Amino acid sequence: MHAELENAFGLTGRVAVVTGAAGGIGRQAAITFAQAGADVVIADVGEPGLAETAQLVEKEGRRAVVRRTDVSQRAEVDALASTSLDEYGRIDVWANVAGIIRYSPIVDMAESDLRAVLDVNLFGVYWGVAAAGRAMTDGGSIINIASAGGDMPAPTLSGYGMSKAAVMHLTKTAATELGPRGIRVNAIAPGFIETPMVAPYYTDESGREDLDAKARIFETRRAQSPLSATGEPTDISYCMLYLAADASRFVTGQVLRPNGGVFMA
Ligand code: NAD
Repeated sequence: MHAELENAFGLTGRVAVVTGAAGGIGRQAAITFAQAGADVVIADVGEPGLAETAQLVEKEGRRAVVRRTDVSQRAEVDALASTSLDEYGRIDVWANVAGIIRYSPIVDMAESDLRAVLDVNLFGVYWGVAAAGRAMTDGGSIINIASAGGDMPAPTLSGYGMSKAAVMHLTKTAATELGPRGIRVNAIAPGFIETPMVAPYYTDESGREDLDAKARIFETRRAQSPLSATGEPTDISYCMLYLAADASRFVTGQVLRPNGGVFMA
């Protein structure tokens, strides 16, 4: 590849903080950033998964600092930023990936479920944007993972959809506030991606996958896409790499929608 493109799309010498990095999209983002040359700080509430992600990052020849963090707790998110500053002296990229999903009709919604979703998916991203915005002294890129569910209302997904729609709005407001300091803020709204988050659709309580149910679900999802496609974590992590790297220096306040064309804004 031409050196100019390596500079534009690479992350050599950069430091990236990734939340929700114990599995799924967050883990893949940490690996992709490492493959592009970044050292990382990885955070999650799931500690065994975090240790595995650290090993995968180290296999790519980069350093991973592990920090258990509940993103719904502002003080823990601030401590995550401090960890990166203590260990590396900087933060160039901050990816808010951690998220949870709860299903319930509005009329039956348990207050605890609604609050849990908003605490992680909205407040968690808010605290991440705030901590990154304070810690980035030399420009940077903040990437918030929203969802197609933030664009498309669906039964039983009121809390999840509200949280993701709000993340898109927060992204745009943050872009206006942080742009003058050279900090870009963008969101990604993925479509259906095969990760632990969607596994409960086709996994029983003992963890056994129902392969027929899985095939049916993926077929239904593919039928919604002009590409007849569902996504994999790299489909999102490569978009994240673009938004993290200098290639996207003119891009801020945007929502990128890797979703197989299921929803077109
Ligand atoms: P996942 O369940 O594998 O990953 C979510 C991670 O967030 C988990 O490792 C979990 O432990 C972590 N997490 C949960 N609560 C946390 C908290 N309070 N503090 C810190 N970490 C916490 O699922 P995923 O699909 O990789 O999800 C990643 C993001 O992508 C989420 O924000 C999700 O809403 C979004 N998303 C996923 C899909 C999909 O189809 N998989 C589609 C659209 C958006």
